[in-house]
Amino acid sequence: MENIWKETLNLISSQVNQQCFNTWFKPTSQLKYNPEQNVLQVETPNSYFESWLKENHMNLIEDTIWKITNNPSLKIEFVSSSNNKDLATEEQKTSQTETNRTSSHLGTYPKYLNPNYTFGNFVVGSSNQLANAAALSVSEQPGKRYNPLFIYGGTGLGKTHLIHAIGNKAFTLNPNLNIYYLSTENFVNDLVASIRFNKMEEFRNRYRRSDILLIDDIQFIGGKTKSMEEFFFTFNDLYNSNKQIVMTSDRPPREILNLEERLRSRFEWGLMVDIQEPELETKIAIMKKKAELWNINISDEVAMYMANNLGPSVRDLEGALKKVSAFAQLAETPISFSLVEEVLKGQIKPKDKMVTIDEIQKVVAEKYNIRVNDLKSKSRRRELVIPRQIAMYISKILTNDSLQQIGRKFGNKDHTTVIHSIKKVEEGKVKDPILFRVIEELKDQLT
Ligand code: ADP
Ligand code: MG
Repeated sequence: MENIWKETLNLISSQVNQQCFNTWFKPTSQLKYNPEQNVLQVETPNSYFESWLKENHMNLIEDTIWKITNNPSLKIEFVSSSNNKDLATEEQKTSQTETNRTSSHLGTYPKYLNPNYTFGNFVVGSSNQLANAAALSVSEQPGKRYNPLFIYGGTGLGKTHLIHAIGNKAFTLNPNLNIYYLSTENFVNDLVASIRFNKMEEFRNRYRRSDILLIDDIQFIGGKTKSMEEFFFTFNDLYNSNKQIVMTSDRPPREILNLEERLRSRFEWGLMVDIQEPELETKIAIMKKKAELWNINISDEVAMYMANNLGPSVRDLEGALKKVSAFAQLAETPISFSLVEEVLKGQIKPKDKMVTIDEIQKVVAEKYNIRVNDLKSKSRRRELVIPRQIAMYISKILTNDSLQQIGRKFGNKDHTTVIHSIKKVEEGKVKDPILFRVIEELKDQLT
């Protein structure tokens, strides 16, 4: 066995997340293995690595080497290859402070709480209000109120953010708690490795030590018999000792494929809350929050335009915002409508059926018993203004036409007039259920 460390790294790579692995493990290598003295020397770029690895991953390293060599007394020595001993890269420094917040009490296990996912950074709207409230309550009183808490909803809607927020808040309130976050995928990998290396007892103890077990994307456990069985025991143990369990899933328990019945019923024991697709107002608020966090200058109108035209996934919204901001920086221009249109071309949400503005104008005019030309006129008469605003609004929702193009079709109006109309209808819809229904009917009629 000449490269023990290489094999160790191979195994470790499936035990820690990729970013952590790339930052801390990948830059290391085996320097020397001396069987007589029973020493393995590992080279690290600088002394930061040594202290970081010792502080945070020593048990994992020792366990893994033990598995590989069957030699529990092999000594590991880190040797720094650089003389700039304390020059860690920025990445390592941030990564260190981030992880320190949650790892000081962790004992043997790295937990990957993301310090950026907090309640403070989570925008609450009607689509996620309940989930947010439940999560908050659990973080304040773990194991007391809603156990287990099961959060489900479509992808990119904030489940991972919320489950981390629970961990972060609970940790702030009580740093002595053993908080363990992991993805279901990691749970499964961990189980596979533990079976393979005959470490099941350690495996079990590891999970059962947690005061709060946060397990993300539990839907992946469906169909994995051994994982379901182990998770069942873990669940029972934690539950019976009043430890908090939080799970997220992209669907409710009854829709998880090949999920054992006894697990399904347990998942439903506590509180199940869903996160729905954010409504326009929440999407806009999220865009503005992210813009603020990332120091991006974006006008309300442009934020609204993007929120209106992109799909429901907040992850996609974030991606679009980053992309647009990068382009604006490169072009050294502010984020304008035309820039957004240009950059997000092709990303605009797919419409069920293509409708033209002409059709929309026809249907709206019929509904209100006016002429199509009235929709294009400049008249400020109320009985014309309202249908005109509605027609513009529906044009924005149901076509891929730009605000400029819509304006042109309505008697050469400015795009700001179109934005104003859309806003008016958006506001009106919230306050006036009749208007809301009329618009839904018109949309149905058109699609
Ligand atoms: P999921 O786990 O449901 O697929 P994530 O939690 O990973 O989604 O969310 C995707 C991205 O969107 C994350 O960067 C998250 O911070 C952000 N996000 C989602 N919902 C919100 C919200 N309500 N407020 C702020 N950011 C959000
Ligand atoms: Mg997620």
